[in-house]
Amino acid sequence: MNLTIPYHLENYIGGYLIAPLTGKFIDCVNPATAEVFTQVPESGEKDIELAVKAARDAFPAWSVTPVEERFRILNRIAEFIEANIEALALAETTDNGKPLWLSKLVDIPRASANFRFFATGIMHFATESHSMEDKAVNYTLRQPLGIVGCISPWNLPLYLFTWKIAPALAAGNCVIAKPSEITPVTAFLLSIICKEAGLPPGVLNIVHGSGPGCGEAIVKHPEIKAISFTGSTRAGERIASIAAPKFKKLSLELGGKNPNIIFADCNWEKMMKTTVLSSFSNQGQICLCGSRILIEQSIYEKFKKEFLERVRKLTVGDPLTDNISQGAVVSKLHYEKILACIETAKQEGGNILTGGNAVRLDGRCAGGYFIEPTVIEGLGCNCRTNMEEIFGPVVTLQSFTSETEALQLANTSDYGLAATIWTQDISRANRVAAKVESGIIWVNCWLLRDLRTPFGGMKNSGVGREGGWEALRFFTEAKNVCIQL
Ligand code: NAD
Repeated sequence: MNLTIPYHLENYIGGYLIAPLTGKFIDCVNPATAEVFTQVPESGEKDIELAVKAARDAFPAWSVTPVEERFRILNRIAEFIEANIEALALAETTDNGKPLWLSKLVDIPRASANFRFFATGIMHFATESHSMEDKAVNYTLRQPLGIVGCISPWNLPLYLFTWKIAPALAAGNCVIAKPSEITPVTAFLLSIICKEAGLPPGVLNIVHGSGPGCGEAIVKHPEIKAISFTGSTRAGERIASIAAPKFKKLSLELGGKNPNIIFADCNWEKMMKTTVLSSFSNQGQICLCGSRILIEQSIYEKFKKEFLERVRKLTVGDPLTDNISQGAVVSKLHYEKILACIETAKQEGGNILTGGNAVRLDGRCAGGYFIEPTVIEGLGCNCRTNMEEIFGPVVTLQSFTSETEALQLANTSDYGLAATIWTQDISRANRVAAKVESGIIWVNCWLLRDLRTPFGGMKNSGVGREGGWEALRFFTEAKNVCIQL
């Protein structure tokens, strides 16, 4: 399979790789070097119309394709992703700036796992039946919706793209999918993989472009029945305002400002090691990263000292080298946004304990977008730094004296995606877990994922859940059939 990256990426529509009808392209920049290395189509309404036509033609056959056959094709896609891990990981790192070792360890294996998980899942997806004693029996059909739209962000490009596409296809839908225009390359390579794996033409259509140009054309299209979106709260709000009046099904996985709640009785070493990871993995650009570290007063100084020692040892460098902890942040725009957030923190009275600056590298990465891991203290819970999502290598420290105060601080945020709780007291862990306003809670761990569990946030972090049966239910319409006996 030829997975080299051409200078012009193409849309995948009706089984063909084709140039955008608009004739327009957007530069794709390697954030580690600041060099343009490919261009992505800036597609528009006409490209979406073409994709919808292809999906419309493919749907009658795909929706009744036996689940064993859908399993076979999706599982083959999983195998092809696995077999091409080196090429895909290099493409992901070139596009996104994350360390190559991370792409190989997490992003690409998880993309393959997503396809395998939903390929096997659909073989076991059962529907409910409700008996009314001797009067009647009800059963629920779960039928594919038709054509659905999947829109994903840049932070975990192939990982989150496939997390949506795999359940949508497994459930028998035809899909119009758009990756982030900032990191489209692995989605383009997935088109080639899908062709080779024998996915029938038109079942999956990958159309590239910007949010306002191409994304909104997907959201607006009357034949697209559901939108599964992962990205910023700002874009989620816009998408909801377009889709809700058309009564489209919506799954919105949005931003976060996640608290790590650390009690004095925690397993110290495990908490320390994990908190460094949950703060700075992927340059802090994981929606599940903890960005507000809340520490019980009695261990605050000890925590601060040891945390700073460990953070100062993190290395920022060329993402292609093995011995670095962090690579580049995703784009110039995002780099400038993160540095501006650090300035805001200073203006708000925050004390930069470590980091706070851009990192200048030599050689190949001299022009790249690198930022030091940054730890800030001395800010109240209501300031912009503690309320707004930064989505970079920046965390704040706050202290609390009681469980009640910890909960108050944790729940001050308008977001409610994820939280971690560190304590050896099982009763307290359960109490706090029940009261933290987040869709995902980790106790004494972080990012431990079982793909069967409901995944998503509350408050401004979104609506709906992905994962397991939740995803298959989202991508199907429940129809009750009542038979009088
Ligand atoms: P973004 O909202 O700018 O873009 C996400 C995707 O939406 C892109 O493909 C973009 O082109 C598209 N888009 C933007 N505006 C659109 C519009 N008006 N209509 C249709 N599509 C549109 O987000 P981003 O900067 O790519 O990603 C970072 C954000 O994603 C952060 O806020 C992060 O927290 C969030 N995120 C959330 C989760 C989660 O599971 N909750 C996971 C990863 C990232």
